[in-house]
Amino acid sequence: DLSPAGNALLARTLAYGKRADVAATFAVHNPADGSFIGDVADMGAPETQRAIDAAKAAFPAWAARTARERADILRAWFRLILENQEALAEILTLEQGKPRAEALGEIVFGANFIEWFAEEGKRLYGDIVPTHAPDKRCLVLKQPIGVVGAITPWNFPSSMITRKVSPALAAGCTIVVKPAEDTPLSAIALQLLAEEAGFPEGVMNIVTAKRAEAVAGVLTASPDVRKLSFTGSTRVGKILMRQCADTVKKLSLELGGNSPFIVFDDADLDAAVAGAMATKFRNAGQACVATNRIYVQSGVRAAFVEKLRAAMEDLPVGPGLEADTRIGPLINPAAVAKVQELVGDALGKGAEAVLGGTPHPRGGLFFAPTLLVDVRADMAIASTEIFGPVAAVYGFETEAEVIAAANDTPYGLAAFLWTRDIGRVFRVGEALEYGMVAVNETLTSNPATPFGGVKESGLGREGSRYGLEDFVEIKYLALGGI
Ligand code: ADP
Repeated sequence: DLSPAGNALLARTLAYGKRADVAATFAVHNPADGSFIGDVADMGAPETQRAIDAAKAAFPAWAARTARERADILRAWFRLILENQEALAEILTLEQGKPRAEALGEIVFGANFIEWFAEEGKRLYGDIVPTHAPDKRCLVLKQPIGVVGAITPWNFPSSMITRKVSPALAAGCTIVVKPAEDTPLSAIALQLLAEEAGFPEGVMNIVTAKRAEAVAGVLTASPDVRKLSFTGSTRVGKILMRQCADTVKKLSLELGGNSPFIVFDDADLDAAVAGAMATKFRNAGQACVATNRIYVQSGVRAAFVEKLRAAMEDLPVGPGLEADTRIGPLINPAAVAKVQELVGDALGKGAEAVLGGTPHPRGGLFFAPTLLVDVRADMAIASTEIFGPVAAVYGFETEAEVIAAANDTPYGLAAFLWTRDIGRVFRVGEALEYGMVAVNETLTSNPATPFGGVKESGLGREGSRYGLEDFVEIKYLALGGI
């Protein structure tokens, strides 16, 4: 059911992904119906080492190019992605499940990072520091870190790659990317277009693998890899952080979240409900910034729940390639089992399901959009990233109470706040221990703004000039005898 252009790019991607020099392969499946899409190379330690060697060999010449030369190739890649956006979106939906319109949004969103960093790479300014002695001069240079390792997740299989690769390459680094095992095709398609765009051999490398451990082990142990950039679970992020200790690598970690979504009595309720729909159900709830805990002040709780129920009632659930689908399948059986367990635990402890509460009657990996009320902090769903289409509503009375509740988690990625009171915007916005706080809006990430978390949600920022700084080393160059 792909378009001719989608089928053509898929065929090229599968041909590219099954490398002649790697005998082992693993299968990629469509989560909407379990059907087999194709096989890709199952690489391990030797292939990872070869990729690192290639990136290392390519680094000096790439770093020596001017930012403008690098930008020219990055922009060619950006244009190729936009020219192929429909086909890339179809491949994304095919292997990941999200509705086609969302997939298209992700392809364009991801491509925008490339264009933005291509330009920002030209503005990696150093400093000249006022001297401490008349015959000395103090310069601060910003230089690319070197070879970067990137490990990316399945929930945004295209944009999480471009968001890492484009600042790395713009800064003059080279990179080895290991995409998630559920969604290698989007990564391979990006690599294929990167080659077409004209990146020199070894500048960008993809290592596909069924099991992450061997590849990650080589990436983290290699003294040639000077930085690791990871997006995924907090559990795996901690493993990688430990593994990087022996070579004292720089780290960017974009880990799990537990986003509070706080609605005060004075909020514009219709806007808040629209915001809850957007932040809760995008990608069927499978996003690290997805709304996880909805706190509604007592004066508007009943009205908010009724409006949310009405908005959720007829959400079309189905394969992402079907035209009107809003909620696709979850990524795999383990994801469905986990969501079911969280809902079961909440219902067992006294929560009430206003809508859903079970897998969807369609079967397979589809879960019914679920609205739970009377949810409390002692239920597992309060402290766990749901990663499914389940809206959990909690009550609260006071500002102090909801700030304490919202911060009562080891995570600190994104928080949402709905109020018209300007004083409260500052009081609560500043008190929330989160890397991103959205006030009366849904935090549409964009290349110019810093994305990232505090506490166990991670280290570093992606996007923005801060995200570029994460790929450079600062060197102090001291001149004497002047
Ligand atoms: P998610 O919950 O999004 O699946 P994971 O952290 O399991 O998050 O996966 C994110 C990425 O980390 C994927 O590319 C996956 O293959 C990789 N990964 C999973 N386990 C490990 C591990 N033990 N070491 C290194 N990478 C891993």
